Amino acid sequence: MPENQDLHPMRHSLAHIMANAIQHLWPQAKFGVGPVVKDGFYYDVDLGKDSLSQDDLKRIEKEMHSIINAKQPFEKSEKPIDEAIAWAKDNRQPYKEELLNDLKRAGTTVAKDLDKDELGTITDGDSQVDAVSFYTNGDFTDLCRGPHVADTGKTGAFKLLRVSGAYWRGKEGNPQMQRVYGVAFASKEDLSHHLQMLEEAKKRDHRKLGQELDLFVFSDLVGPGLPLFTPRGTVLREEIGRFSQELQAAAGYQRVTIPHIAKIDLYKTSGHYDKYPERFSVTSVESDTEFMMKPMNCPHHTQIYASRPRSYRDLPIRYMENTIVYRDEKAGELHGLARVRAATQDDAHVFCRLDQIEQEFTAIMTMISDMYKVFDLTWKARLSFRDDSDQYLGDPKVWEEAQQTLETVAKKLELDYFVEEGEAAFYGPKIDIMATDALGREWQLATEQLDFVQPERFGLEYTGEDGEKHRPVMIHKALLGSFERFLAVYIEHTAGKFPVWLAPEQIRVATLNQEDKVVDFAQKLVEQATELGLRATLDNASESVGKKIRAAELMKVPYMVVIGDKEVESGNVLPRIRKDIEVSAVPEPIGINEFLKTVAHEAKARVSKTSLHGIPAEFKG
Ligand SMILES: [Zn+2]
Ligand SMILES: [Zn+2]
Repeated sequence: MPENQDLHPMRHSLAHIMANAIQHLWPQAKFGVGPVVKDGFYYDVDLGKDSLSQDDLKRIEKEMHSIINAKQPFEKSEKPIDEAIAWAKDNRQPYKEELLNDLKRAGTTVAKDLDKDELGTITDGDSQVDAVSFYTNGDFTDLCRGPHVADTGKTGAFKLLRVSGAYWRGKEGNPQMQRVYGVAFASKEDLSHHLQMLEEAKKRDHRKLGQELDLFVFSDLVGPGLPLFTPRGTVLREEIGRFSQELQAAAGYQRVTIPHIAKIDLYKTSGHYDKYPERFSVTSVESDTEFMMKPMNCPHHTQIYASRPRSYRDLPIRYMENTIVYRDEKAGELHGLARVRAATQDDAHVFCRLDQIEQEFTAIMTMISDMYKVFDLTWKARLSFRDDSDQYLGDPKVWEEAQQTLETVAKKLELDYFVEEGEAAFYGPKIDIMATDALGREWQLATEQLDFVQPERFGLEYTGEDGEKHRPVMIHKALLGSFERFLAVYIEHTAGKFPVWLAPEQIRVATLNQEDKVVDFAQKLVEQATELGLRATLDNASESVGKKIRAAELMKVPYMVVIGDKEVESGNVLPRIRKDIEVSAVPEPIGINEFLKTVAHEAKARVSKTSLHGIPAEFKG
């Protein structure tokens, strides 16, 4: 884990202690693997006929505390591999035995989702293993590579959260095990802060809020991973999409439009055909030609560029399009809007000369800054560069120059950035936008990539000042990335309390009674708001006004006005303002025109008057 590196030995030691406790309580327990994961640890266990339930977690915790209180040192020992295999056999640990046999045979246990430190390997996997290490605390010995804390007493604060099913080595058809998962932190305060954050995250789960706020739905008939956006959700999509397009238009990007399928030859030429085995094929009854749903848009866009001769004077050429790409993601990996099979992108491609990369990236990173400020998201830029290996295509000198340019841009704009070598795509370096939400969780959103390869594969050209043909460079860029993923993050970031410019319903007008003059007045107010481009609705149900107010609050409508006789007579309203929206003065009755103009201005200027910072200390209600 890159974060909390110092907590790693502690969390890892807790995995031993938990296995030890489970063995005390269920002596027949057979153990799989027990790695450190984000915020904590787990261990896979097989209790034979018994099985663990959520209720057992308290018992295990109690047993763990007695092991912790005993302050048992972790002691290292080594065994030759054959002795280790015999040990596993004697102790009836068939899973460990299997791992050890793999180690002996292949020098690795190859389970790429496991931390390779968790198993007792002495080699790095490409040679044979002679010996393995074990660690013992009290009466418990485990095959392990370490490192651990000095003794069981030095393990901070932890809590076991859940038990779930897991196949041995993650492979269907293998024995079913149970995965016991816990979180651990250096102090009780850190732990309780984390648990509080998890509670808040549960409340903010975008799948739950999507349902409650009527933003999107899934249908079994349409299929998994294919979200359907309701009218309210469509407002969100269109508003963020328009915002992105406005920023790009100001930077010289032009809109293009492409179909959602293409001949597979297009993707064979681009090289994506082999890279996207998770493709949706499309068959034609008319011809033998094979088509597929587009998994990306760049190949199409190259064909617009290639449709006429280009001169150095035409560059950069910048195409943008909000459009959907289709990828047949595994059903088990689909997750609300965060992982879907049809993802909308604010995708753009720049075709430019090498000497224009700096200006283009400066413009892109400036757009990102402007956009994420409005969304109230803090972010870091991860610059992914190449290493010395030969897995990258293109001239290393050009790479070097381009990487330097990207870093120059990051420095010049004073971005919060870091460099990771060896993380570049094979076709060029990239910048990922890592945003932090109101709960302190980090998400990768947009990615901006340089591409030296696709222009080559499609034979893109421009005529230079020298009259010769040259290759342009391509930049893939998105500000939002996937709309769906962005909305998943943003819904949880805001807890569904969208700023006025994004709120699907900006003003709700409720009537105090059903008198004609009151209803007429309320209706006119809604019409006037609509004329100003605002999204306003009328609640004229014969319910108590208290109920109407609660209904508007549940839908997190930013502004609500109640119309009764008093409002009709004075022509003034006293808006009820959603609690998280900061207002400097106590609201007073204001004239209708003034109220509507203020809201319209707020919406148009994309003002963010909500206060999201300071969370999670107070979890604004
Ligand atoms: Zn260990
Ligand atoms: Zn692209």
